[in-house]
Amino acid sequence: MGFETLLGNDRLKDNLTASLRQGKNAHFYLISGPAGAGKRTLARLLSAAVMCRGEDRPCCRCADCRKILSGVHPDVITVEDPEHKTVPVRIIRQMRDDVFIRPNEGSHKIYIFPQEMGIEGQNALLKILEEPPAYGVFLLLTDNAHKILPTVRSRCVELALQPLEAKLLRSTLRQQFPKADTGSIDAAIARSGGFLGQAQSLLSNEDTQPPQIEELVTALCSKDILRLTYTLVSMEKWKRDQLLELLQQFTEVLEGALVVRSGGTAMTNQSSRLAASRSGAELNRMIATLQKCMEYARGNVSPAAVCGYLQWMLR
Ligand SMILES: [Zn+2]
Repeated sequence: MGFETLLGNDRLKDNLTASLRQGKNAHFYLISGPAGAGKRTLARLLSAAVMCRGEDRPCCRCADCRKILSGVHPDVITVEDPEHKTVPVRIIRQMRDDVFIRPNEGSHKIYIFPQEMGIEGQNALLKILEEPPAYGVFLLLTDNAHKILPTVRSRCVELALQPLEAKLLRSTLRQQFPKADTGSIDAAIARSGGFLGQAQSLLSNEDTQPPQIEELVTALCSKDILRLTYTLVSMEKWKRDQLLELLQQFTEVLEGALVVRSGGTAMTNQSSRLAASRSGAELNRMIATLQKCMEYARGNVSPAAVCGYLQWMLR
């Protein structure tokens, strides 16, 4: 098995595999890369590789691998606090005490830090960095290695995740999003900076969109008044919140089109189509109309009347 579920990053994977084969693992790893680069995936695979009792580590089949990959191994501990921007120092201090309790069932005890630690937190960690227990492994995740104190960083083996080639991204996204068209996939790749997670979230946003947005975009691109009317009439009985949500999403598509018109990269295929068929002034007018509609909908105007106004203004 090895590290193959992490896409790309061949050199990093080869180096890790080679050192693990020699039975060597470091106490501290610094995994860096922007959002969507695969930091958590690598942290899980590396934890499994350290603890694995099979061959071609991580084998992904032994009991330790399976527990780690499904997030239930008692000796792999994630240190984070979603309520705060950085991990509070008190949590790092608690962890410091926990480190000296021997592992439950695994050969090691692994701590994953997916959240930024801040200077104070990193200083609290330094004590362990100086004298870690033999079984301790610590994985620090960051979107920017420069945020890590030099005293901490110098003790870590650095694993910097790299962007993927467009070809690899395209074939992966085609499998994961069989319904997405080529234009949407290309737009997501262009916006993702080569990082799979970012492309996935761009495409799944489009996936959760109500179909009426695509209808409205198509109607506006082809100046099809009948289609526009038909779509808006079908929304007249919607609940206020549902309508507001759609108006918000539709505004984002139009704003995206405006970005394209001023030379930016298309966020979605819908935005690039609108940019190609409507002028900047027209897009601006549509955005202003939608903002008016949202204002009305938040006030006391009925959804039917808002749809009527929108239809009048957009045709
Ligand atoms: Zn295994």
